Amino acid sequence: MTKVIRVGVIGVGHLGRYHAQKYAAMEHVHLVGVADIDEQRVQTVARETDTTPYTDFRRLVDAVDAVSIVTPTTSHFEVGIYCLEQGVDVMMEKPITSTLKQADALVALAEERGRILQVGLVERFNPAMRAAQKRLTLPLFIEAKRVGGFTRRATDVDVIIDLMIHDLDIILSLIKSPITSISAAGAPVLTPHTDIANAHLIFANGCTANITASRISQVVERRMRLFQPGECLIIDFHGKKCSSMQLPANDCADTVTPTISELEVELTDALEQELLEFISCVRTRRAPVVTGAQGRDSLAVALAIIAAVKKNTQQLIHTLCAAEAGGTVLRQRLGLYCESKPN
Ligand code: NAD
Repeated sequence: MTKVIRVGVIGVGHLGRYHAQKYAAMEHVHLVGVADIDEQRVQTVARETDTTPYTDFRRLVDAVDAVSIVTPTTSHFEVGIYCLEQGVDVMMEKPITSTLKQADALVALAEERGRILQVGLVERFNPAMRAAQKRLTLPLFIEAKRVGGFTRRATDVDVIIDLMIHDLDIILSLIKSPITSISAAGAPVLTPHTDIANAHLIFANGCTANITASRISQVVERRMRLFQPGECLIIDFHGKKCSSMQLPANDCADTVTPTISELEVELTDALEQELLEFISCVRTRRAPVVTGAQGRDSLAVALAIIAAVKKNTQQLIHTLCAAEAGGTVLRQRLGLYCESKPN
Protein backbone atom coordinates (compact mmCIF):
# COMPACT_ATOMS: atom_id res chain seq x y z
CA MET A 1 0.00 0.00 0.00
CA THR A 2 1.32 3.47 -0.89
CA LYS A 3 2.23 5.47 2.19
CA VAL A 4 0.31 8.72 2.66
CA ILE A 5 2.67 11.71 2.96
CA ARG A 6 1.50 14.32 5.47
CA VAL A 7 2.19 17.84 4.22
CA GLY A 8 1.66 21.42 5.32
CA VAL A 9 2.00 24.80 3.64
CA ILE A 10 3.55 27.69 5.58
CA GLY A 11 2.57 31.08 4.13
CA VAL A 12 -0.63 30.99 2.09
CA GLY A 13 -0.53 34.36 0.36
CA HIS A 14 -0.54 34.67 -3.42
CA LEU A 15 1.58 31.59 -4.23
CA GLY A 16 1.15 29.49 -1.08
CA ARG A 17 -2.57 29.20 -1.76
CA TYR A 18 -1.76 27.40 -5.04
CA HIS A 19 0.65 25.06 -3.21
CA ALA A 20 -2.18 24.17 -0.81
CA GLN A 21 -4.62 23.59 -3.69
CA LYS A 22 -2.18 21.29 -5.52
CA TYR A 23 -1.42 19.19 -2.43
CA ALA A 24 -5.11 18.97 -1.51
CA ALA A 25 -5.81 17.42 -4.93
CA MET A 26 -2.93 14.88 -4.87
CA GLU A 27 -3.32 11.16 -4.36
CA HIS A 28 -1.58 9.59 -1.36
CA VAL A 29 -0.93 13.04 0.10
CA HIS A 30 -2.75 14.46 3.11
CA LEU A 31 -2.76 18.23 3.47
CA VAL A 32 -2.69 18.32 7.28
CA GLY A 33 -2.93 22.09 7.51
CA VAL A 34 -1.94 25.54 6.31
CA ALA A 35 -0.20 28.21 8.41
CA ASP A 36 -0.10 31.97 8.08
CA ILE A 37 0.31 34.88 10.48
CA ASP A 38 -2.64 36.52 8.74
CA GLU A 39 -5.59 34.92 10.54
CA GLN A 40 -8.24 35.87 8.02
CA ARG A 41 -6.15 34.65 5.10
CA VAL A 42 -5.34 31.30 6.71
CA GLN A 43 -9.00 30.69 7.56
CA THR A 44 -10.02 31.37 3.95
CA VAL A 45 -7.40 29.09 2.39
CA ALA A 46 -8.06 26.34 4.97
CA ARG A 47 -11.78 26.44 4.12
CA GLU A 48 -11.05 26.32 0.39
CA THR A 49 -8.74 23.33 0.74
CA ASP A 50 -10.72 21.57 3.48
CA THR A 51 -7.88 21.55 5.99
CA THR A 52 -6.89 22.98 9.40
CA PRO A 53 -5.70 26.58 9.79
CA TYR A 54 -2.73 27.44 12.03
CA THR A 55 -1.46 30.89 12.94
CA ASP A 56 1.73 29.46 14.49
CA PHE A 57 3.60 27.41 11.88
CA ARG A 58 5.46 25.48 14.63
CA ARG A 59 2.26 23.69 15.63
CA LEU A 60 1.71 22.55 12.04
CA VAL A 61 5.32 21.34 11.71
CA ASP A 62 4.75 18.94 14.65
CA ALA A 63 2.12 17.07 12.62
CA VAL A 64 3.71 16.67 9.14
CA ASP A 65 6.42 14.83 7.18
CA ALA A 66 7.05 17.69 4.75
CA VAL A 67 6.26 21.37 4.18
CA SER A 68 6.21 23.99 1.47
CA ILE A 69 7.61 27.29 2.76
CA VAL A 70 5.97 30.11 0.83
CA THR A 71 6.51 33.03 3.19
CA PRO A 72 8.35 36.24 2.16
CA THR A 73 12.02 35.63 1.36
CA THR A 74 13.27 37.42 4.49
CA SER A 75 11.69 34.69 6.65
CA HIS A 76 12.82 31.65 4.57
CA PHE A 77 15.91 31.07 6.71
CA GLU A 78 14.26 31.22 10.12
CA VAL A 79 11.28 29.06 9.09
CA GLY A 80 13.46 26.65 7.07
CA ILE A 81 15.97 26.06 9.89
CA TYR A 82 13.14 25.32 12.32
CA CYS A 83 11.51 22.79 9.96
CA LEU A 84 14.77 20.98 9.18
CA GLU A 85 15.66 20.85 12.89
CA GLN A 86 12.31 19.19 13.55
CA GLY A 87 13.16 16.51 10.95
CA VAL A 88 10.73 17.74 8.28
CA ASP A 89 11.50 17.78 4.52
CA VAL A 90 11.35 21.23 2.92
CA MET A 91 10.16 22.60 -0.40
CA MET A 92 11.48 26.18 -0.19
CA GLU A 93 10.13 28.79 -2.58
CA LYS A 94 12.71 30.78 -4.52
CA PRO A 95 15.03 32.45 -3.72
CA ILE A 96 16.31 29.94 -1.18
CA THR A 97 17.21 32.72 1.33
CA SER A 98 18.21 36.39 1.33
CA THR A 99 21.95 35.81 1.86
CA LEU A 100 24.55 33.24 0.85
CA LYS A 101 25.53 32.63 4.47
CA GLN A 102 21.94 31.64 5.25
CA ALA A 103 21.71 29.46 2.13
CA ASP A 104 24.93 27.63 3.06
CA ALA A 105 23.64 27.00 6.60
CA LEU A 106 20.32 25.67 5.31
CA VAL A 107 21.97 23.36 2.77
CA ALA A 108 24.42 22.08 5.41
CA LEU A 109 21.66 21.40 7.94
CA ALA A 110 19.54 19.50 5.38
CA GLU A 111 22.60 17.39 4.51
CA GLU A 112 23.48 16.75 8.17
CA ARG A 113 19.91 15.70 9.05
CA GLY A 114 19.32 13.69 5.85
CA ARG A 115 16.36 15.89 4.87
CA ILE A 116 15.07 16.75 1.39
CA LEU A 117 15.59 20.42 0.51
CA GLN A 118 14.08 21.40 -2.84
CA VAL A 119 14.00 24.98 -4.14
CA GLY A 120 11.00 26.38 -6.04
CA LEU A 121 12.65 27.31 -9.32
CA VAL A 122 9.52 26.28 -11.15
CA GLU A 123 10.56 27.03 -14.74
CA ARG A 124 12.60 23.81 -14.72
CA PHE A 125 9.22 22.09 -14.75
CA ASN A 126 7.78 24.24 -17.54
CA PRO A 127 6.76 21.77 -20.27
CA ALA A 128 8.42 23.96 -22.94
CA MET A 129 11.72 23.67 -21.05
CA ARG A 130 11.30 19.92 -20.78
CA ALA A 131 10.69 19.66 -24.54
CA ALA A 132 13.85 21.70 -25.24
CA GLN A 133 15.91 19.60 -22.87
CA LYS A 134 15.35 16.51 -25.01
CA ARG A 135 17.00 18.32 -27.98
CA LEU A 136 19.81 20.16 -26.24
CA THR A 137 23.33 19.21 -27.21
CA LEU A 138 25.94 21.92 -26.61
CA PRO A 139 24.63 25.45 -25.98
CA LEU A 140 27.19 27.98 -27.27
CA PHE A 141 25.24 31.20 -26.91
CA ILE A 142 22.12 31.92 -24.86
CA GLU A 143 19.73 34.86 -24.96
CA ALA A 144 17.05 35.14 -22.28
CA LYS A 145 14.33 37.74 -21.89
CA ARG A 146 11.85 37.75 -19.01
CA VAL A 147 9.72 40.90 -18.92
CA GLY A 148 6.28 41.75 -17.57
CA GLY A 149 4.06 44.56 -16.36
CA PHE A 150 4.41 46.30 -13.02
CA THR A 151 2.63 44.88 -9.96
CA ARG A 152 3.21 45.74 -6.29
CA ARG A 153 4.16 42.13 -5.46
CA ALA A 154 7.85 41.42 -4.83
CA THR A 155 8.87 45.05 -5.36
CA ASP A 156 10.79 44.86 -2.05
CA VAL A 157 13.52 42.99 -3.93
CA ASP A 158 15.47 43.50 -7.16
CA VAL A 159 14.03 42.20 -10.43
CA ILE A 160 17.17 40.05 -10.53
CA ILE A 161 16.06 38.09 -7.44
CA ASP A 162 12.41 38.21 -8.44
CA LEU A 163 12.55 37.22 -12.14
CA MET A 164 16.07 36.85 -13.55
CA ILE A 165 16.91 34.11 -11.03
CA HIS A 166 14.69 31.68 -12.99
CA ASP A 167 16.84 32.10 -16.12
CA LEU A 168 20.05 31.99 -14.09
CA ASP A 169 18.97 28.68 -12.56
CA ILE A 170 18.15 27.18 -15.96
CA ILE A 171 21.41 28.39 -17.51
CA LEU A 172 23.48 27.08 -14.57
CA SER A 173 21.72 23.74 -14.83
CA LEU A 174 22.62 23.49 -18.54
CA ILE A 175 26.16 24.89 -18.62
CA LYS A 176 28.36 22.77 -16.39
CA SER A 177 31.31 25.12 -16.50
CA PRO A 178 32.46 27.88 -14.11
CA ILE A 179 31.49 31.49 -14.80
CA THR A 180 34.60 33.53 -15.63
CA SER A 181 33.03 36.95 -16.03
CA ILE A 182 29.86 38.81 -15.06
CA SER A 183 28.97 42.27 -16.29
CA ALA A 184 25.61 43.87 -15.70
CA ALA A 185 23.65 47.09 -15.89
CA GLY A 186 20.24 48.10 -14.66
CA ALA A 187 18.12 50.87 -13.24
CA PRO A 188 15.62 51.62 -10.49
CA VAL A 189 12.68 53.21 -12.33
CA LEU A 190 9.41 52.80 -10.39
CA THR A 191 10.82 51.42 -7.11
CA PRO A 192 14.04 52.02 -5.13
CA HIS A 193 15.29 48.62 -6.36
CA THR A 194 16.46 47.54 -9.81
CA ASP A 195 13.36 47.22 -12.00
CA ILE A 196 15.11 46.50 -15.29
CA ALA A 197 18.47 44.82 -15.80
CA ASN A 198 20.72 43.12 -18.28
CA ALA A 199 23.51 40.70 -17.42
CA HIS A 200 26.23 39.21 -19.55
CA LEU A 201 27.84 35.97 -18.35
CA ILE A 202 30.85 34.23 -19.85
CA PHE A 203 31.63 30.61 -18.93
CA ALA A 204 35.05 28.92 -18.91
CA ASN A 205 33.93 26.61 -21.74
CA GLY A 206 33.30 29.67 -23.96
CA CYS A 207 29.52 29.74 -23.70
CA THR A 208 27.99 33.20 -23.35
CA ALA A 209 24.62 34.19 -21.87
CA ASN A 210 22.89 37.52 -22.29
CA ILE A 211 19.93 37.90 -19.92
CA THR A 212 17.35 40.67 -19.64
CA ALA A 213 14.71 41.02 -16.95
CA SER A 214 12.16 43.75 -16.45
CA ARG A 215 9.02 44.28 -14.38
CA ILE A 216 8.16 47.57 -16.04
CA SER A 217 7.35 46.33 -19.51
CA GLN A 218 4.07 46.82 -21.38
CA VAL A 219 4.19 43.28 -22.71
CA VAL A 220 4.74 39.89 -21.12
CA GLU A 221 7.54 37.87 -22.65
CA ARG A 222 9.50 34.98 -21.16
CA ARG A 223 11.70 33.54 -23.82
CA MET A 224 15.08 31.84 -24.06
CA ARG A 225 17.04 31.19 -27.23
CA LEU A 226 19.70 28.51 -27.03
CA PHE A 227 22.12 28.43 -29.96
CA GLN A 228 23.92 25.14 -30.45
CA PRO A 229 25.70 23.58 -33.43
CA GLY A 230 23.28 23.51 -36.38
CA GLU A 231 20.25 24.70 -34.45
CA CYS A 232 18.59 27.39 -32.33
CA LEU A 233 16.03 26.26 -29.76
CA ILE A 234 13.45 28.89 -28.88
CA ILE A 235 11.65 28.35 -25.57
CA ASP A 236 8.51 30.38 -24.89
CA PHE A 237 7.94 29.85 -21.14
CA HIS A 238 4.84 32.02 -21.11
CA GLY A 239 3.14 30.39 -24.10
CA LYS A 240 4.49 26.91 -23.17
CA LYS A 241 5.88 26.41 -26.66
CA CYS A 242 9.23 25.35 -28.01
CA SER A 243 10.52 25.60 -31.57
CA SER A 244 13.67 24.72 -33.43
CA MET A 245 15.32 26.82 -36.14
CA GLN A 246 17.54 24.90 -38.57
CA LEU A 247 18.72 25.06 -42.15
CA PRO A 248 16.71 22.82 -44.46
CA ALA A 249 18.55 19.59 -45.30
CA ASN A 250 20.31 19.34 -48.71
CA ASP A 251 19.53 22.94 -49.67
CA CYS A 252 22.33 24.32 -51.83
CA ALA A 253 20.64 27.55 -52.95
CA ASP A 254 22.55 30.82 -52.47
CA THR A 255 19.91 32.30 -50.22
CA VAL A 256 18.74 29.82 -47.68
CA THR A 257 15.91 30.56 -45.26
CA PRO A 258 16.08 28.64 -42.00
CA THR A 259 12.99 26.63 -41.23
CA ILE A 260 11.22 26.80 -37.91
CA SER A 261 9.50 23.71 -36.60
CA GLU A 262 7.40 23.40 -33.44
CA LEU A 263 8.49 20.73 -30.97
CA GLU A 264 5.90 18.60 -29.26
CA VAL A 265 5.14 19.99 -25.80
CA GLU A 266 3.15 17.97 -23.30
CA LEU A 267 0.93 20.59 -21.65
CA THR A 268 1.41 19.93 -17.94
CA ASP A 269 1.09 22.31 -14.98
CA ALA A 270 4.60 23.36 -13.88
CA LEU A 271 3.74 23.96 -10.20
CA GLU A 272 1.93 20.64 -9.96
CA GLN A 273 4.91 18.85 -11.53
CA GLU A 274 7.28 20.62 -9.15
CA LEU A 275 5.28 19.55 -6.08
CA LEU A 276 4.85 16.00 -7.39
CA GLU A 277 8.63 15.89 -7.72
CA PHE A 278 8.96 17.01 -4.10
CA ILE A 279 6.52 14.36 -2.86
CA SER A 280 8.34 11.71 -4.92
CA CYS A 281 11.66 12.73 -3.31
CA VAL A 282 10.10 12.65 0.17
CA ARG A 283 8.80 9.15 -0.56
CA THR A 284 11.92 7.68 -2.20
CA ARG A 285 14.63 9.79 -0.45
CA ARG A 286 16.28 10.65 -3.76
CA ALA A 287 17.75 14.11 -4.48
CA PRO A 288 15.33 16.56 -6.13
CA VAL A 289 15.74 18.01 -9.65
CA VAL A 290 16.36 21.43 -8.07
CA THR A 291 18.48 20.88 -4.96
CA GLY A 292 19.18 23.30 -2.13
CA ALA A 293 22.77 23.58 -3.40
CA GLN A 294 21.52 24.60 -6.87
CA GLY A 295 19.19 27.14 -5.28
CA ARG A 296 22.21 28.47 -3.41
CA ASP A 297 24.27 28.71 -6.62
CA SER A 298 21.61 30.66 -8.53
CA LEU A 299 21.34 33.01 -5.54
CA ALA A 300 25.14 33.49 -5.59
CA VAL A 301 25.09 34.53 -9.26
CA ALA A 302 22.03 36.75 -8.73
CA LEU A 303 23.79 38.54 -5.85
CA ALA A 304 26.93 39.02 -7.98
CA ILE A 305 24.78 40.55 -10.73
CA ILE A 306 23.07 42.85 -8.21
CA ALA A 307 26.49 44.00 -7.00
CA ALA A 308 27.64 44.68 -10.58
CA VAL A 309 24.44 46.62 -11.35
CA LYS A 310 24.78 48.72 -8.20
CA LYS A 311 28.38 49.56 -8.97
CA ASN A 312 27.42 50.84 -12.40
CA THR A 313 24.25 52.59 -11.33
CA GLN A 314 25.68 54.41 -8.33
CA GLN A 315 27.88 56.48 -10.60
CA LEU A 316 24.89 57.34 -12.77
CA ILE A 317 22.70 58.28 -9.80
CA HIS A 318 25.37 60.44 -8.19
CA THR A 319 25.73 62.29 -11.47
CA LEU A 320 21.96 62.82 -11.57
CA CYS A 321 21.76 63.81 -7.89
CA ALA A 322 24.52 66.36 -8.38
CA ALA A 323 22.79 67.82 -11.42
CA GLU A 324 19.44 68.26 -9.66
CA ALA A 325 19.04 71.31 -7.37
CA GLY A 326 19.81 69.87 -3.93
CA GLY A 327 19.19 66.35 -5.24
CA THR A 328 16.75 65.72 -2.38
CA VAL A 329 13.76 64.28 -4.24
CA LEU A 330 15.88 62.02 -6.37
CA ARG A 331 17.89 60.89 -3.36
CA GLN A 332 14.71 59.95 -1.50
CA ARG A 333 13.25 58.01 -4.40
CA LEU A 334 16.46 56.21 -5.14
CA GLY A 335 17.66 55.95 -1.55
CA LEU A 336 19.23 52.55 -1.89
CA TYR A 337 21.39 53.63 -4.78
CA CYS A 338 22.54 56.79 -3.07
CA GLU A 339 23.65 55.09 0.13
CA SER A 340 27.34 55.10 -0.69
CA LYS A 341 29.55 57.36 -2.72
CA PRO A 342 30.98 56.05 -5.99
CA ASN A 343 34.67 55.26 -6.15
P1 NAD B 1 2.64 36.94 -0.34
O1 NAD B 1 3.04 38.18 0.40
O2 NAD B 1 1.44 36.99 -1.22
O3 NAD B 1 2.43 35.75 0.71
C1 NAD B 1 3.28 35.51 1.79
C2 NAD B 1 2.41 35.01 2.96
O4 NAD B 1 3.27 34.58 4.01
C3 NAD B 1 1.49 36.09 3.53
O5 NAD B 1 0.16 35.62 3.57
C4 NAD B 1 2.05 36.35 4.95
O6 NAD B 1 1.06 36.69 5.89
C5 NAD B 1 2.68 35.00 5.25
N1 NAD B 1 3.73 35.01 6.28
C6 NAD B 1 4.69 35.94 6.47
N2 NAD B 1 5.50 35.55 7.49
C7 NAD B 1 5.01 34.38 7.95
C8 NAD B 1 5.40 33.47 8.99
N3 NAD B 1 6.47 33.72 9.75
N4 NAD B 1 4.67 32.37 9.18
C9 NAD B 1 3.59 32.11 8.44
N5 NAD B 1 3.17 32.93 7.43
C10 NAD B 1 3.87 34.03 7.19
O7 NAD B 1 3.93 36.51 -1.16
P2 NAD B 1 4.02 35.54 -2.45
O8 NAD B 1 3.95 36.35 -3.68
O9 NAD B 1 3.09 34.39 -2.28
O10 NAD B 1 5.55 35.05 -2.30
C11 NAD B 1 5.95 34.16 -1.29
C12 NAD B 1 7.28 33.52 -1.66
O11 NAD B 1 7.13 32.82 -2.89
C13 NAD B 1 8.43 34.51 -1.86
O12 NAD B 1 9.63 33.94 -1.40
C14 NAD B 1 8.51 34.66 -3.38
O13 NAD B 1 9.80 34.98 -3.84
C15 NAD B 1 8.08 33.28 -3.84
N6 NAD B 1 7.48 33.30 -5.19
C16 NAD B 1 7.96 32.44 -6.11
C17 NAD B 1 7.44 32.44 -7.40
C18 NAD B 1 7.97 31.48 -8.43
O14 NAD B 1 7.80 31.71 -9.60
N7 NAD B 1 8.58 30.39 -8.01
C19 NAD B 1 6.39 33.32 -7.73
C20 NAD B 1 5.88 34.15 -6.74
C21 NAD B 1 6.44 34.14 -5.46
